Amino acid sequence: MLNKKIEDALNEQINAEMWSAYLYLAMSMYFENEGRSGFANWFRVQFQEEQAHALALIDYVHARNGRAVLSPIAGVPEKWDSARDAFIATLEHEQKVTSMIHNLYAMAEAEKDFATRQKLNTFIAEQVEEEDNVRKIIDDLTLVGTDGTGLFQIDRELASRTFVAPTL
Ligand code: MG
Repeated sequence: MLNKKIEDALNEQINAEMWSAYLYLAMSMYFENEGRSGFANWFRVQFQEEQAHALALIDYVHARNGRAVLSPIAGVPEKWDSARDAFIATLEHEQKVTSMIHNLYAMAEAEKDFATRQKLNTFIAEQVEEEDNVRKIIDDLTLVGTDGTGLFQIDRELASRTFVAPTL
């Protein structure tokens, strides 16, 4: 059985993952409107990944006989100045999520909730991958700057990303 403190923190994390999903869906819609279907696709897959993170936590709370709660999802921005800006906002957001997960891990350790601590290992590894992927895209975008051909190539590359359900 989950203790209340851990249950609340997991529910907070579920809300954060849903907010992330909402943010990336907004980015996907923004790029679709800008006529950049590759970027839109990348963020649409990212949206699906975040939903998978939230679902994995909901399943975990249930598996521990806890009560998962859906609280309201706060609003998200609607536009960004450039593709690079959107990816920088993504990296900053993922860094925040990483620190939330680390805090949760520390709490699980302090509360001697070893099952939650173990569950979070996969999330910690997932965050390393998320941040690394985004950083690489930012590097590419920095390299091409405002060059249309370069941006077109990155857009085409991101168009090929498909959703693979993460094992969490
Ligand atoms: Mg996530």
